[in-house]
Amino acid sequence: MIELKNVTKIYDGNVVGVENLNLTIEDGEFVFVVGESGSGKSTFLKLLMRELKPDEGQVIIDGKDITKMRRSKIAALRRSMGIVFQDYRLLPRRTVYDNVAFALQVIETPGKKIKKSVPAALNLVGLVHKAKSYPNEISGGEQQRTAIARAIVNNPPLVIADEPTGNLDPRNSQEIMEVLEAINMRGTTVIIATHDKAIVNAMQKRVIHMENGIVVRDSGGGYDDL
Ligand code: ADP
Ligand code: MG
Repeated sequence: MIELKNVTKIYDGNVVGVENLNLTIEDGEFVFVVGESGSGKSTFLKLLMRELKPDEGQVIIDGKDITKMRRSKIAALRRSMGIVFQDYRLLPRRTVYDNVAFALQVIETPGKKIKKSVPAALNLVGLVHKAKSYPNEISGGEQQRTAIARAIVNNPPLVIADEPTGNLDPRNSQEIMEVLEAINMRGTTVIIATHDKAIVNAMQKRVIHMENGIVVRDSGGGYDDL
C-alpha cells in the first residue's frame, strides 16, 4: 500500500510541485494521474520513486516512510518498481531480447532464470516475434512495449508510467494501455500519469486529477467528470 500524508514539494523555494497531497493507493489498484502540463503529475511520481524528497510530509510504501530511507536502501526500493518513461529509454545497440535481459543481468540474476523470464515478459507484451530486432527496426509502440517488458521482467509489485503514450498515436496508445491493464490483472499495482483524455475516458479507472499541485478530484470514471 502507498500512502501520502501532507506531502509538499516546492521547487526553488517558490514553484509548487505538489502541495499538501493526501492519498492512498491500495495494492492491486490501477490509477490514472491526470491534469494539464505543469499540474504536478511527474513530481508526484518522482516522490514515489524517491527521485525527489518532499519538503514536508511522508511517503509511505508498505509501511516504510521512504523519505527517511537511507541511500543504501534506495536502489532496492527502485528495483521493486517497474518504471516506464515517455521516451522508452532503450539501449540502441541491444536487441529487444537483450534490452529486457539487461534489467536482470544488472541485478545478477542466474542465466537460467533470465532464459525463462525474458520470453515470458516478451510474450505478455506481444513481442516474441521481435526478440531479435533492434530498437530502430521496430515501431514506437513496439519500443514502448519492449520498455514495459523490461520494467516487469523482474515481477515488481508496482509499475509507474509517466506519460507512456505521449509519443504514440491513438491506436498504439490503446495497445499500451491494454498491456498495462493485463499487467494489473496479474495483481500488479499500476500508476499512470497521462493527459490523454480519450484513453482515460475509455478505460473507466480511478482518476486522480491534479491542478497546480493539488488533487482536485479523485474518483472512478472519466477525465472530465468534475
Ligand atoms: P506535470 O508532470 O504535470 O507536467 P510537473 O510535476 O513536471 O508537472 O511540474 C509541476 C510544476 O513544477 C511545474 O510548474 C513545473 O514547471 C515545476 N517543476 C517541475 N520540475 C521542476 C524542477 N526540476 N525545477 C523547477 N521547477 C520544476
Ligand atoms: Mg510530467
